[in-house]
Amino acid sequence: MSYGSNNKVGLHKLAFNFFEKVCYKIKIKNILTVYIMEFRRRKTRSVKVGKVVIGSEHPVSIQSMTNTDSENIFATINQIQGLEKAGCEIIRIAVPTKKAAENIKIFIENCSIPIIADIHYDYKLALCAIKSGVDGIRINPGNIGSEENVKIVAEAAGEAGIPIRIGANTGSLPRVYHPKNKDDVRINRTELFAEALVQSAMYQCELLEKFCFKDIKVSLKASDVVTTVKAYRKFALKTDFPLHLGVTEAGTLTQSLVKSSIGIGGLLTEGIGDTIRVSITGNPLDEIKAAGQILENTGHRKARPEIISCPTCGRTAVDLITLAEKIEKKIEDIKSLGKRFTACKIAVMGCAVNGPGEAKEADLGIAGAKGRYVVFKKGTPIGAYEEEKAIELFHTELLKLIEI
Ligand code: SF4
Repeated sequence: MSYGSNNKVGLHKLAFNFFEKVCYKIKIKNILTVYIMEFRRRKTRSVKVGKVVIGSEHPVSIQSMTNTDSENIFATINQIQGLEKAGCEIIRIAVPTKKAAENIKIFIENCSIPIIADIHYDYKLALCAIKSGVDGIRINPGNIGSEENVKIVAEAAGEAGIPIRIGANTGSLPRVYHPKNKDDVRINRTELFAEALVQSAMYQCELLEKFCFKDIKVSLKASDVVTTVKAYRKFALKTDFPLHLGVTEAGTLTQSLVKSSIGIGGLLTEGIGDTIRVSITGNPLDEIKAAGQILENTGHRKARPEIISCPTCGRTAVDLITLAEKIEKKIEDIKSLGKRFTACKIAVMGCAVNGPGEAKEADLGIAGAKGRYVVFKKGTPIGAYEEEKAIELFHTELLKLIEI
């Protein structure tokens, strides 16, 4: 086997296999996790959006977008603050009018996360948003007009020191990139549209670079998962621009959760993606929850605490869904006070016969028994009471798992 200069990946793999064996032997799982993430993450340049840096040297960040009227200052600030509290790290705001662009100044004064202005059609709105102090611009170069318009926006963003996201989208591909043979059934449509997204985004990046603008991040979104994944994979191989992941117009809650978990989650497990937005037709707060879950389940964030609950079966002795929701709420209430949990596992189980045993790795758990609930630690029951008292005991034990 040769390990020449172009075989760095081979060497990495060899080192990884060795490290993996050593880690498993001495059970340093956390170190292994960190190593795996670093090994797998696609290397990108870093781009600064206000206080958040996007790129492979930094954690994958969570974005959302307001769905209030951006001219309505009160409603928009209210929503930004709610999203910020829920864990949103970057917020995008639609800027369809001059007033909306001017309002950015007020939004900035009333929130502490970076704001990105989403601009379509009118480059002058981008200039106005930049003047208002926005932290980043998202343009869809397909509809921003001439090259000259892009140049003017690039120069203004460069002077302000803010990045631009190229948002390529199958719904608004410039005509020149529309696949000519898309109706030919012998040709794979997803392949055609993925390639069209990549070509369109590549051209726009080259255009910005021609105007000496480098702080670029890119998204390549389709409303179907396969096209989206193919486009990101192709683009990831060609450039080092940080990638904003998302499946566009992903639908209402359940449909979006499935599409986004497969699309965004799948790409993240391949090491592709530096910031994510889960698009849901509904409450943006759900986008933050879903994005957090995707990051936790792809190993990009440590779930604290990790909640496990049984799938229920014929032995289930209680209303487990309500119980799990109550426990989740207790944990969220504590987190919303800014407190953090130690790395721990919490179990919510449907029966007291098998539950504690099935979840014996859990640091703390609660299981339903007939008319009462058993609270257990590491598989050992520490008390069995009726609901209210059991949840009280559970809560007391939960507080002991908060980081000091
Ligand atoms: S913990 Fe009990 S109720 Fe839940 S799946 Fe296992 S046996 Fe069934």
